[in-house]
Formats: sequence, structure tokens, C-alpha cells
Amino acid sequence: MDHLADPTFLRQHCQKWRTQGLTVALVPTMGFLHAGHLSLMDHARTCADRLVVSIFVNPTQFGPNEDLDRYPRDLPHDLKLARAHGVDLVFAPEAGAMYQPDHAAWVDVPELGQVLCGASRPGHFRGVCTVVTKLFGLVRPDFAVFGQKDWQQLAIIRRMARDLELGVAVIGRPIFREADGLAMSSRNVFLTPEERDKASAIRQGLLLVQQAVQAGERDAAKLGLMFRAHLGEKLAMARVDYAELVHPEALSPVARVEAPTLLAVAVFVGRVRLIDNILLEV
Ligand code: AMP
Repeated sequence: MDHLADPTFLRQHCQKWRTQGLTVALVPTMGFLHAGHLSLMDHARTCADRLVVSIFVNPTQFGPNEDLDRYPRDLPHDLKLARAHGVDLVFAPEAGAMYQPDHAAWVDVPELGQVLCGASRPGHFRGVCTVVTKLFGLVRPDFAVFGQKDWQQLAIIRRMARDLELGVAVIGRPIFREADGLAMSSRNVFLTPEERDKASAIRQGLLLVQQAVQAGERDAAKLGLMFRAHLGEKLAMARVDYAELVHPEALSPVARVEAPTLLAVAVFVGRVRLIDNILLEV
């Protein structure tokens, strides 16, 4: 497995593969890899001849008061995991290698990027789209694999790739969970033992809403309140940032669940902001 930090070397490496007629898959990450990331790599491995994983805590997707500085990092361990999962190349640049001091070009999908997480994290998805575009430009992958845990991110990248003709097949993969249902996240390490213990209430709340839909409830406002009430009872220390029922691609609010609808939630548990979602089928 190769490990590169220089974007130019990355470009050359991937260019060489393409001239050999090899297909390339990319899995972008911020590192501190867990089984959710590894499930993306395992799938990507089956899609293409070569697999590139990027590990980059992208500063432009963090707001001024967010956790950029304390975001967990462990590159040596990540490299071991990547090697064990058949990754051909890990690209782990420094921020200075990815952004010139006078960096001025941005990619944005405002219609999808200003709702849900974008409402409480202004500029977040502009940072995501910009760095993913740069990675696509360097690697020029045939396939890029993203997790449905970040459903909004996946919807935005799909739209960006389609609208800008980026020539990448964007693949979404299911949420990988802990045994008690908590969605795996690099940020889970920041939960105190008590918070961690109770955080499975988020998943339980999503399942409760799904059961209500299956039992015939269609009113999105009622279903959203049901999730909030469940958290109020089971995870009283949490603050719900949002719990919204939206169209799974347009991300626009729905009033009634008459077609597959995404219930997307973000919850502050102590200082940690956790996101999760469920696709409600009727
Ligand atoms: P991150 O390192 O958090 O930026 O995540 C990198 C990629 O892994 C994104 O496409 C995420 O959606 C995906 N991912 C993170 N957590 C999970 C999970 N629990 N299950 C599946 N994919 C995940």
C-alpha cells in the first residue's frame, strides 16, 4: 500500500493507473477509521481495480466554533486498517497542501446545503463540496463511495456530480451501527460513559417513528414530535438540533408520509453533535 501526502504525486499515481486501463474507486474520509469507514472500503474494493482512501480533516467544512482542533486523529492506526482492507493508496495531505493561502474557488449546492445540517453549520457543505471536487479532480475516480449516515452529504455530492458532469458514479452504503444501534462515528469517542450508554435512544426513536408509519400515521409534524418526545424521555441530557421529515433527494420538508421519506436528525449529547437518519417506507 502506498501512502502519499503530496497532491501532485497522487495525481501522477492515479494517472498511471488510468493509462494502464485500470478503474479507480475513492473513499473520502476524515480518518480515525471505524467499522463504518471500513465497510465503505470493503464495498469500494469490489467496484474497481484500484482503491484510494483519502484521510483529511478538511478545515473548510468546520465552522469557527466547531471541533476542528479536537477532531480525533490517529494516522498510524488508520494506515494499518487501510492496509488490512486492501487499500492501494492512502492520501493523507496537510491542509497547506490542499489549500493555497489565496484559495478562492468554491463549489456549492446551496439549495440542498442550507437545510438540515447546513442550517446549523453554515458553509459546511460548501467546504465538503469543494474538497470532494478537489479529490475527484486529483484522483478522477470511476466510483466514489459515501455512507448514508451522512445522507444529506451523499444527496449533495450526487447532485453535484450529476449537475457538473464530474463523470463519477456516486455510491451510497448503509449505516454501520454499534450493537445497541448507535451509528458509528469518529465523534462517539467524545461521549462520556453515561452519554454513550444512553445514546442508543436516538436509534430507538427513529425505529419508533418507523413503527408509527407502519401502523398508519402519516402526519410528519406528529412523527417529528414523537421522536423528540422519545428523546426527552430517554435521553434527557440531549438537545435536538433538528428532527425533520424530508424528501430523500430534494431534502425539502414533507407534510405527510405518502412516499419514501427521510427522517433526519441531529442531536447534541453534551458537547457532541450526533446525526442519524432512517428512510421511512410506506
Ligand atoms: P467521515 O470520516 O466522518 O467524514 O466519514 C467518511 C465517510 O464514511 C462518509 O461517507 C461517511 O458517511 C461514512 N461513514 C461515517 N460513519 C459511517 C457509518 N457509521 N456507517 C457507514 N458509513 C459511515
